[in-house]
Amino acid sequence: MTKNVSRPLVGRNTEAPQSDGDGNRIHNEILLSLSAEERRVVVPKLELVRLRPRQVLHEVGDTLKSAYFCNSGMISVLSVFPDGKSIEVAVVGKEGFIGLPLVAGFRSAGTRAVVQLEATAFRIDAGILNGLLQECLGLERRLQQCSQFRNMQVTQIAACNLLHEVKERLARWLLMCQDRTGSDSMALTQELLAEMLGTRRSSVTLAVGQMQEAGLIASRRGEIIIQNRARLIAAACECYEAMRRQITVWQAELTR
Ligand SMILES: [Zn+2]
Repeated sequence: MTKNVSRPLVGRNTEAPQSDGDGNRIHNEILLSLSAEERRVVVPKLELVRLRPRQVLHEVGDTLKSAYFCNSGMISVLSVFPDGKSIEVAVVGKEGFIGLPLVAGFRSAGTRAVVQLEATAFRIDAGILNGLLQECLGLERRLQQCSQFRNMQVTQIAACNLLHEVKERLARWLLMCQDRTGSDSMALTQELLAEMLGTRRSSVTLAVGQMQEAGLIASRRGEIIIQNRARLIAAACECYEAMRRQITVWQAELTR
């Protein structure tokens, strides 16, 4: 586990139940921020599911039958092109939610959501979520905030993918990953990194090699370990800090 990772977007309510009816600990920050009253209404409607790496939760154009409160691990949101190419536009961990179009009353997905690092999530049926949103105004508000948070991330990453070098983007990506999983070690292949960053495998190999030589990370077969977070932040493009800054501003506004 690591220190100095991002704080939750919204505060936690420690008086409400911290586990579901089966004793599964809740780590999702949206669920943890709900009032005790709303959490008691929402949690019995959830089912904990284990998600394996590369599992696709939805494809572009799919009707969203379920939504997911990510509880551990990491899920990528990808923009997909007609020729089959894709690029990551957002990463979601325990702070987040998959199925945001449902919150706005839409039923179909505009992106692909794929599990990146072994994950668990609290799944909810789309129809049940729709009913809950009418009943639980706190949940609706939190999901609207999550939607705004996602928009900010997608906008920043779109600019980042266009303007910044592979090495800077890789550092930014690893930091975002660490913030979401709370772990220094990630089960990642270089093929996967290249796919996420929308670049060639050879460019990723070069960037990983340079960062390893500089002592920022260690790379083993199928695993990357962050060794020096402060220097990794210094090596990342400004996008990482820009996103963190915006979160801090919004956190302050919510507690005002
Ligand atoms: Zn950037």
